[in-house]
Amino acid sequence: MIKFDIITVFPQLFTEHLNNLPFKKAVEKKLSQYKLWDLKEFSVNNYGSVDDETYGGGVGMVLSVEPIYNALCEIYGKAVIEKQLSNPEKQSLPKDHKIVVLSPRGKTYDQETARKLSKCAQITLICGRYEGIDGRVEENLATDVISIGDFVLSGGELPSLSIMESITRILPGVLEKKDAAKIESFSEENEGTPEYPQYTRPENFMGVKVPPVLLNGNHKEIDRWRKDNSKRIEK
Ligand code: SAM
Repeated sequence: MIKFDIITVFPQLFTEHLNNLPFKKAVEKKLSQYKLWDLKEFSVNNYGSVDDETYGGGVGMVLSVEPIYNALCEIYGKAVIEKQLSNPEKQSLPKDHKIVVLSPRGKTYDQETARKLSKCAQITLICGRYEGIDGRVEENLATDVISIGDFVLSGGELPSLSIMESITRILPGVLEKKDAAKIESFSEENEGTPEYPQYTRPENFMGVKVPPVLLNGNHKEIDRWRKDNSKRIEK
């Protein structure tokens, strides 16, 4: 069982996704749990705000450290988070627990990271908004800082969903077909390479034909063709 805690200013962005596959199946089978934490509920002022201006000057607002700290204390207990804050080098959480900050400055996410994270017991995802998150969160509270690529989105919600979905679908028992997640792009069985192209009926679409080798029933030749075509599309 893997538990995901999501800290966000916009919890409503998750609900539709989490009520559908693969999340729904994982919850039904008791393979994962998802809990949304509305950052606004951890505001430390009378206005309910969770952001402030950036030190040093600049456009836009930054998510403050205090509400995030308070949300983490609620999730893990104050003693654990206080320890983590004062000594971030020595992770106070168990090794199979992760606090992940989503940031374009983080380590680029890939299938290998998804496989590693899928072995965790608990993962907390902290979604940034506006200009981002106070740097002390990634420096002193996070165990991992993850980017989903060299581009900028408006918030960490889509990156969190991408990470959660990629982990959830490889939990044994989530996908309907047992081997579906075993042989696919970047899987260990596919030696980390992209998958080969796949085709279905009709065999001939307006003169554009399926590669003949896939129709000849010779599995050795089909395997060889698939191996040769397991490569990135350069287009
Ligand atoms: N000022 C930041 C910068 O230039 O790097 C961008 C902040 S972005 C508008 C707001 C939030 O969206 C970030 O704090 C992060 O949580 C999330 N975000 C945007 N792009 C992302 C990416 N490629 N990977 C992960 N998170 C991302």
